[in-house]
Amino acid sequence: MTQLTKEQLAFLKAQKVSPSWLFDGSGLSKRSRDESMDALEKYFYYGGSPCAKSGHTLRSKAGHCIQCDTSKIAYQLRNSATGYVYLAYSKSTQFSKVGFSKHHPQDRKDFLNKEAYGNITDWDIKKIVAMTKDAGKKEFEIHSTLEKYQKAITYEKTRGLIVECREIFACDYQVALEAFLKHTT
Ligand SMILES: [Zn+2]
Repeated sequence: MTQLTKEQLAFLKAQKVSPSWLFDGSGLSKRSRDESMDALEKYFYYGGSPCAKSGHTLRSKAGHCIQCDTSKIAYQLRNSATGYVYLAYSKSTQFSKVGFSKHHPQDRKDFLNKEAYGNITDWDIKKIVAMTKDAGKKEFEIHSTLEKYQKAITYEKTRGLIVECREIFACDYQVALEAFLKHTT
């Protein structure tokens, strides 16, 4: 596993990229990285080889260094403009999750529980908002509002692949709901 550095997190914040959109590609072949990124709907990755020019390690799914060329960020994010922003809640842990999906989140619920996303199997989708623009941007804004409650959880996906969740929040459901509604209505 590779950790994002403080500098990388600051860069992502300045670029309005939620850290939850990043995938840790450490030790993976391009093929398994692409497969996992598709399943998890991730747009960027780190943990691969550093860029030749400056040694950066944040890359777009296609492999471009997004620190050398920030226009690659906008290009990737255009893909997340249309879709669903949803609020999920787990009764057993009392954690909330705010996510974005191209697919209808009702399917997402099955995926999350089957995957035991964040080691949790009782995800329930509480709110869904369909958006035709800025969906990814709204998700970023909600994540920023709830940042102080962020609960970093890692779980083992398959064959030892460790996934780090950055969009799970340990706060009162009402707090998560208010943040969600504030940015989506
Ligand atoms: Zn670079």
